[in-house]
Amino acid sequence: MTQVVDETLAAVPRGLLIGSDWVSTDATFEVTDPARGEVLAQVADAGVAEALDAVVAAHDAFGGWAATAPRARAEVLRRAYEIMSAELEQCARLIVLENGKAWNDAMGEAAYAAEFFRWFSEEASRVSGDFRLAPSGDKTIIVDHQPMGVAYMITPWNFPAAMATRKLAPALAAGCTAVLKPAAETPLTALWVAEVLRRAGAPSGVVNVITTSQPGPVSESVLADRRTATLSFTGSTFVGKLLLEQTARRALPSSMELGGNAPLLVLQGADVEEAVEGAVLAKMRNGGSACTAANRFYVHESLATEFTNAFERALGALKIGSGLDPAHDLGALVSVKERDKVLDLVHKAEEEGGAASPATGAPAEGAFLSPYVVRGVTHGQTLTREEIFGPVAPIITVQSTDEAVEMANDTEYGLISYVFAPNAGEGIRVARRMDTGMVAINRGVASDPAAPFGGMKESGLGREGGFAGIHEFLETKYMAVDL
Ligand code: NAP
Repeated sequence: MTQVVDETLAAVPRGLLIGSDWVSTDATFEVTDPARGEVLAQVADAGVAEALDAVVAAHDAFGGWAATAPRARAEVLRRAYEIMSAELEQCARLIVLENGKAWNDAMGEAAYAAEFFRWFSEEASRVSGDFRLAPSGDKTIIVDHQPMGVAYMITPWNFPAAMATRKLAPALAAGCTAVLKPAAETPLTALWVAEVLRRAGAPSGVVNVITTSQPGPVSESVLADRRTATLSFTGSTFVGKLLLEQTARRALPSSMELGGNAPLLVLQGADVEEAVEGAVLAKMRNGGSACTAANRFYVHESLATEFTNAFERALGALKIGSGLDPAHDLGALVSVKERDKVLDLVHKAEEEGGAASPATGAPAEGAFLSPYVVRGVTHGQTLTREEIFGPVAPIITVQSTDEAVEMANDTEYGLISYVFAPNAGEGIRVARRMDTGMVAINRGVASDPAAPFGGMKESGLGREGGFAGIHEFLETKYMAVDL
């Protein structure tokens, strides 16, 4: 295993990708393995000057890439899909090493990430406009779409591959060029993805990557630069709002995929076995470190005991340990700091009267954490308000569907919700009442590259994936033509 790990790490560039070159810097920062606490690599630490060099490279490449035929752009993305699909294990290993997640989660993410290249390779040549006679009859209305220009992308640590491809693929399909800033905890996967795009034939300057330990000043300077045309951010609502203040100064288009506080409803008459199976997926995919992770469980009183006991048993059966071993269902959190944040929330829930019990044991060394079920939580308490981002499941008993819907919607977040109902019809009726951009009905996962991903309220602006994703990188142009 050590040899495979060493080979995987050796294949990853450590510099900044600016134009056609991997550029090294005097300053570097460490990337560590949260499971073993070991340093994995030193990567280049970009300052403002290097970040602006990347913007210049992307700007210089824009004209040529925008003028490249959509099908030729599509072929680069298709080749990236093929390379990535052939090297899924390598991608998954990198994700495990720097993020800590379980092997199956990492393989799932690698495949999901590659799918964005395939989906947007198909979308690149399907952007259609409009051509029609004005209602007044005095002219023809032509509506066309054109790439915005240099897209600045900021991604989080929880899906280091998929959050990068979900932005890079539509941007490149649209004809934009990219400057990507991955999270400091997990830059290696993004550097690897960029190298995949280069191997797939992305021309010099079309994809640029800056790794940095100073996200604030670096991003502020990139966003203030007039060559930057749009921002695509995935991360916390807190940082998203800071960035919106900056993009407001230039009225810069800003796509925001922000935090979630997903409710999971188990309604009267729901199939408990199906609900437990879905709840385990919705809570535990990515070890609970997902914006889509079920954060609050509103369970009808008639099913509460049966559901909670069965859910706890299912969580107790999960094996916890190194993500490099496929036998483990649950890996490490991204850092000890992050694990301690989640544990603090558990302690807070106990202080507020909740009964928290670890479902099973976890290794003492490394950023591992047992899953917790917390009984006796009341709506409005800390665990129902804060994004937990770890394997902790607060259970709130409700007396009716109306009460569950009201509590579920009582949050500033609105990314996704999960509804377990007696049948699909009832599920859809309730889903229509949920103030979330996505609803999974009688299932624990909704994400699909072919579907629009995004949130309402403070969970975001815009959509990624689906038919909408490419339009985050396109301007709409209306031309008026005399008859
Ligand atoms: P975060 O702290 O907001 O960081 C996200 C990214 O923003 C990182 O690259 C980070 O860089 C950068 N950043 C931090 N401070 C910044 C600043 N002042 N200016 C510019 N960039 C800055 O979020 P996270 O902890 O990595 O990720 C977890 C959050 O992401 C959760 O809230 C989760 O719900 C959300 N998320 C949302 C989605 C979605 O699609 N809606 C998907 C995944 C995650 P550094 O790494 O250097 O700090």
